[in-house]
Amino acid sequence: MFTPLNGRSVVVTGGSKGIGKGIARVFARAGADVLIAARDEATLATAAADLGTEGAGRVETVAADVSKVADCRRIAATAVDRFGGIDVLCANAGVFPDKAFTELTEADVDEVFDCNVKGTMFSVQACLAALEASGRGRVIITSSITGPITGFPGWAHYGASKAAQLGFLRTAAIELAPKRVTVNAVLPGNIATEGLADMGPEYRAGMEAAIPQHRLGEVEDIGYAALYLATDEAAYVTGQTIVVDGGQVLPESPAALEGI
Ligand code: NAP
Repeated sequence: MFTPLNGRSVVVTGGSKGIGKGIARVFARAGADVLIAARDEATLATAAADLGTEGAGRVETVAADVSKVADCRRIAATAVDRFGGIDVLCANAGVFPDKAFTELTEADVDEVFDCNVKGTMFSVQACLAALEASGRGRVIITSSITGPITGFPGWAHYGASKAAQLGFLRTAAIELAPKRVTVNAVLPGNIATEGLADMGPEYRAGMEAAIPQHRLGEVEDIGYAALYLATDEAAYVTGQTIVVDGGQVLPESPAALEGI
């Protein structure tokens, strides 16, 4: 059995919807106190009302933009103020605007890197003192299969940012090991979120056809992987990645899925 996570303090950036909300839901059900951070206050309030009934722990919110270092520090300070410390940081906030590489501007690349890369690095840095004080600190980054393993037209800047998160992770895992803070990542495949719904039924059908399990993942599938990495029993796992994609990256050509 895994040691229960009741009363642990968990921060989830981008926790107001999509995968982050799924991660927050899983930790709330496990009895943790969860602080969700995102920019839009109304969405945060709706999510908190929804998640607040899930477990014995508290669900709190903070409106913050992780692309701003001062906001990252405010997220950490809020968690320490409300819950007395931070045991787990799920650095999940991310943006994925699609645009052909040939059309990309400096502003397009800055937008994606400011949130996905800088936001990840500075939210970890901001939470570090509290994570170290916990004695069993956990950082769990939401990366992606896109970039580290696969490519998709329109996501050159996004894929680069998701691969950059893993470059950060591998050195951070070494530097933070003496502080007993582990740093790992979950790499989702195609997960059913509100954002994916916006991309239309054709995109969804194409994705389902390319996945050996022929279905999209649920946001909680990412939450369960994050939950494992947060346990005491995962203390010796650091600098690693877990792909959660229904087997999407496995076929070496469309022929591998014929008859499957
Ligand atoms: P989503 O549904 O659009 O949710 C994104 C969350 O991040 C929202 O809570 C959003 O709230 C918040 N956010 C965005 N920019 C922010 C910023 N600058 N500061 C603070 N919060 C911010 O996206 P998702 O699909 O769940 O994606 C979440 C993570 O999973 C991302 O890192 C993404 O790269 C990764 N991922 C997703 C998929 C997928 O299939 N959905 C696959 C692979 C990886 P506000 O807009 O109110 O700030």
